[in-house]
Amino acid sequence: MSTWASRAVRLGLAVLLGCLGVWPGGARSTRAAAAADFADWHLPLPAGEWRISRGPCGAGGLFTHQCGYYEDHCALDLTPMVGSMENVPVLAPQSGQVFFVGTRSDSGLTVMLEHADGRVSALMHLARIVVAPDERVIQGQVVAYAGNSGSSTRPHLHFHVQPNVVERTCLPLDTLDDTDLRAMTVRSYNLAWTDLELVDPPDGLPSWLPLLNAAALESAALPQRLILAPGTTVGLPVAIRTTALMRGGVAYAGRRLTAVAQTETQKVFIVPVAAPAATGEYAGLLQLSSAWGGRAAGRALRLRFAVRAPPVTGAGARIVWISPIFVGPANWSELAEAPRLCWSEPASAGPPPLLFRARVAGPIAADSGWIAETCWQTPDLVPGTYAWKVFVRDSQGYMNRTNQRPFVFRLR
Ligand SMILES: [Zn+2]
Repeated sequence: MSTWASRAVRLGLAVLLGCLGVWPGGARSTRAAAAADFADWHLPLPAGEWRISRGPCGAGGLFTHQCGYYEDHCALDLTPMVGSMENVPVLAPQSGQVFFVGTRSDSGLTVMLEHADGRVSALMHLARIVVAPDERVIQGQVVAYAGNSGSSTRPHLHFHVQPNVVERTCLPLDTLDDTDLRAMTVRSYNLAWTDLELVDPPDGLPSWLPLLNAAALESAALPQRLILAPGTTVGLPVAIRTTALMRGGVAYAGRRLTAVAQTETQKVFIVPVAAPAATGEYAGLLQLSSAWGGRAAGRALRLRFAVRAPPVTGAGARIVWISPIFVGPANWSELAEAPRLCWSEPASAGPPPLLFRARVAGPIAADSGWIAETCWQTPDLVPGTYAWKVFVRDSQGYMNRTNQRPFVFRLR
């Protein structure tokens, strides 16, 4: 995988090599092709079928996102086919790096991931975030849990993909896994419940989640790995085949458990897993017994879990609403050479010192990195139209909101 710093070079190279038809892998010869290609992406939810509760503008569904600058043809609000979206694990749709973690009054707790080709996925109205700014994530990694934060009337996951960090317009998701905008349903081919690394889950994980993976169920559906914060307790939904249960029951840590849900083939139990105060690796025994009282005639499943401190996200600590003022060049200006971009410190921001990061999107991408100055000379750019935006980070690591419109300049 190419490094973050080399992306601008790679994009430039891709354009060049695309003309020659020799780009390694062959898939991404232009930005347009890259933007339309979701072949190696997945929906940000565990494998299974989900409902689109609000679809893209113009898709013909009953409920659509607003048709405007922000959400044309793109954003999906996702909910379960049955039951509540509260606390459903939210997965990275593709590998990338955490670009934004924070709170906004409209989108609520929000995670934005920047992917290797520059596209940005946005996950909003979350209940809990379990990744930190700048953290690298892999596809299928649990980055958050869905919720009802911000301007939201019931738990759902808002998901959209932007072409880059600068432009808040978003891309059609029709080719991402199975998306049926007529039926208003999607099928995710992201990781199944049993493949998840469940990091710092909230108590109240939906008991129907393991059932999404019913077909793959051998004898018990456990997440591959459970990671808890020290001293916390979580009710972990575990599905077990009724044939494995015979006439007996299930016990954990000496407590007999009662099924909370059941189908013809399996029962779901909520297993109370308590994390010790000390970090480390632990295991508990989930006992499947064919008879109770007297000698247990069943067998036990090992439930492995790790205890470690959750990432410090800062999310939810306070609302950050600071927008830097663009200074120059003037919006929609036409330039003869690569510009020096300037901006002023926002009037209201967190505690100093503030850091700024200018990002430029266009035929070539450019990135100032986090700098203390309020001007930045862009590197050499090829002719074309560019959008740019400045992000602000205060001394506590909080970032500004990211949906203000970018400035645009054209290079002759
Ligand atoms: Zn939405």
